[in-house]
Amino acid sequence: MSSRRAIESAKQVLALCSATDPWFPKPSQATVLAWAEHIDRTNFARDELLEAVRTFYSAGGDCRPRPGDIINAAKSTRNDRFMRQPLEAIYAHRDAIDERLAGRIEETADTLSLDRAIETKYRRPDMNPLTVPCPYDGCRAIPGKRCTSARQPMNGYHPTRIDAAKAGRHLPPGGTA
Ligand SMILES: [Zn+2]
Repeated sequence: MSSRRAIESAKQVLALCSATDPWFPKPSQATVLAWAEHIDRTNFARDELLEAVRTFYSAGGDCRPRPGDIINAAKSTRNDRFMRQPLEAIYAHRDAIDERLAGRIEETADTLSLDRAIETKYRRPDMNPLTVPCPYDGCRAIPGKRCTSARQPMNGYHPTRIDAAKAGRHLPPGGTA
């Protein structure tokens, strides 16, 4: 059974389709419920779905939208919006994903008792270069800002900054890390 939220969204989405397209069939309760099931599989807010209906009809074409068309339109709008954010926000998002992945890879390696030596590059970072300024002359990024090369944000960090971060981190008791 679909959520109340999804059913209400489905009603409004279908109502907007009808309002936009006079030939759109009047939706039956079964149609509303079927659309709600698709909507429930996503986390789109009602406004995003209504905007997706507008996007769909703005694009033209001669077919009636089906649930997948509206969901795809909502996805691409969300993606566009994401890509228009300042680069820093995009990088922060990617860093968060990288960190989650690194954590998962390490856990999997633990479970499988893989040799540390072959996965050192995937180790969960125990220091964060973002917490220290970059000492590299051509960069000098302040804490919290990514390293830049020729004014473009880099994917990694200058080696001297990584060294600085390593020097600044706290070693585990008795550990040599
Ligand atoms: Zn740097």
